[in-house]
Amino acid sequence: MPQTVTRFAPSPTGPLHTGHALAALVAHDLARRAGGRFLLRFEDIDTARCRPEYEAGTCTDLAWLGLAWDAPPWRQSARLDTYRAALDALIERGLAYPCFCTRRDIAAEVARMGAAPHGPEGPLYPGTCRPLTADERAARLADGAVAAWRLDAAACSAVAGPLRFTEHGRGPGGERGEIAVDPALLGDVVLGRRDLGVAYHLACVADAAAQGVTLVTRGEDLLPATHVQRLLQAVLGLPAPAYHHHGLVRDAAGRRLAKRDAARSLAALRETGTDPAMLAAELRSLAGLSI
Ligand code: GLU
Repeated sequence: MPQTVTRFAPSPTGPLHTGHALAALVAHDLARRAGGRFLLRFEDIDTARCRPEYEAGTCTDLAWLGLAWDAPPWRQSARLDTYRAALDALIERGLAYPCFCTRRDIAAEVARMGAAPHGPEGPLYPGTCRPLTADERAARLADGAVAAWRLDAAACSAVAGPLRFTEHGRGPGGERGEIAVDPALLGDVVLGRRDLGVAYHLACVADAAAQGVTLVTRGEDLLPATHVQRLLQAVLGLPAPAYHHHGLVRDAAGRRLAKRDAARSLAALRETGTDPAMLAAELRSLAGLSI
C-alpha cells in the first residue's frame, strides 16, 4: 500500500471559517491516522480574487488549530504551464473544444431549449459550440475571438469507458465503496477559462497526481466534481486517488457557511477568545473523527 497523502486546498479569496477548519481537520487527521502526509495547497489560479493576506491567514489559522503540514505549501499560480500543457494534450486529442459563448448566450440558449440538461446546481452548458467544425473553430479563433475551453464529456467517456471511484466518506446517498462515475453529471465543464486559460478541475487533478495525493478529502458539496475529475484522470492517464467526502458545517438556518460570513471566520473566533482545542474537538466529533 502506498503511503496515505492528503491535502487541504483552500482558495485564498477570503478568511477561513469553521467549514474550512473541518476540511483541514479531516485531511490532517486521516493522514496522521494512517502515518501518512498532510499537504497544503493554495488554489490561487484566479489571481484577481486571491490575496497574499488570506494565504498568511490560512497558515495562522491552521497553526492555531494545532495542524502542521508536511511540506512547503504549493501554489497553483506557479503551475499554470503544467495545466496548460495538460489542456493542450486534451485539445490535440479532440477531448476539449473552444467555446465562444458568453454567460448571456448560455442563459438565452438554456431558456430557448426549455428542457435544457440540468446538473446538481442548475442548468448545464447546452453544448452550443460542441458541433462547430474544425474550420469554423479555426476561423473564429483567427478572427481574434477569445474562447473558453470545455471538456467534451461524451468524447472522454467514450475513450475512458465505464469508471468508478472509491469513496471512504459520504458518497451520493451517504454510501461508501465503489461509486459509478456519471460522466455527464456536470456536462462539458470549463477546463480553460476565457480570462485565465486554466480552470479548477484540470488544475486539481494535475496537482493530485504531481503531489502524490492518494486520498482526496473535501466537503460533500464537491462530490459532483469528483465524477468529472475521475474522468479527467482516466483520459490523462493519471492515478486515481480514493475520496473521502465529509458533511458540511451549517449555520443555525441550515445554510452552508460562506467566506462572506466574516463574523464566523477563524480569525474572529481567535480574537474573541475561542479555545482552539475545544473548537477542533467539536468539529472532529461533527465529522466522526477520533484521533
Ligand atoms: N479550492 C476549493 C475550495 O476552496 C477546494 C477544492 C478541493 O478541495 O478540491 O473550495
